[in-house]
Amino acid sequence: MAIERTEQVWLDGKLIPFDQATVPILTHTLHYGLGVFEGIRAYECDDGRSAVFQLREHTERLYQSALIVDIEIPFPLDETERAILQTLRVNRLSEGYIRPLAFLGEGAMGLLPADNPVHLAIITWPWGAYLGEEGLEQGIRAKVSSYTRHHPNVSMTKSKTCGEYVNSILAKREVTRLGYDEAVMLDTQGFVAEGSGENIFIVRRGVLKTPPLSSVLAGITRASVIAIARDKGIEVVEQTFTRDEFYTADEAFMTGTAAELTPIRELDDRKIGDGTRGPVTKTLQTTFFDAVHGRERKYEGWLTYY
Ligand code: PMP
Repeated sequence: MAIERTEQVWLDGKLIPFDQATVPILTHTLHYGLGVFEGIRAYECDDGRSAVFQLREHTERLYQSALIVDIEIPFPLDETERAILQTLRVNRLSEGYIRPLAFLGEGAMGLLPADNPVHLAIITWPWGAYLGEEGLEQGIRAKVSSYTRHHPNVSMTKSKTCGEYVNSILAKREVTRLGYDEAVMLDTQGFVAEGSGENIFIVRRGVLKTPPLSSVLAGITRASVIAIARDKGIEVVEQTFTRDEFYTADEAFMTGTAAELTPIRELDDRKIGDGTRGPVTKTLQTTFFDAVHGRERKYEGWLTYY
């Protein structure tokens, strides 16, 4: 489904009408995928104000992604943060999704883009539940994809690099064509890694388990949910696990900026637990949504009001 366009896009320091935010055909990133991006959400809070969730963490990850793939974003981090807030305000978005994108422009072609300019765009749009409202309540049906997740020494996993998402798209397309909602990807050793755009958690006997950061993106929702769980006295372990351990878990869920905290009710046609949103998942999900909507004082530091 096409996104709903907002009025303005921030591009290289200026707000311009959405329709004018276009790129030339020789834009380097368009050909080879060397660019980095972020996905951030803003929420309307219960007191009527709006806030960006974990703005600093996301902005820092954008700059770290750029460093990993050796791109220099020609704006200081603070200015990018201010630009994100400004773009939300001019578009009068009380909540929605924010997409900063750093990409290489026109110049050299081929694989040595030494002097191509680095552009920075910030695009915002309204976006509801990524895996559906029903998914948030009932859980989704996932399938292990035949595509393996990146190896850290093939294309690295800590950077949100544009071209690396081909792997995610292949996996997501493969499983949605077969009627599932989301892909689960295994790492090169066969352990559970992550979703096409989400981190994964399982629950067994009250203990939360998630793959270590060695082969997955350091999800900001993942870190937030781990903090919430530990605050509630729930034990969290970062450990590799196999798909059969996943099948036999009591509960499972995915986390991501787009997917938020979505229960997984089935993997590869096996019901997880009793096939509904489990009690630990529900507790964490409720607190997560309380945090993003400013209902939990304890997590106010995660919000930047605008
Ligand atoms: N893994 C991948 C591959 C992703 O693209 C994302 C989305 N950014 C995540 C995990 C979840 O990260 P976050 O919670 O920071 O959105």
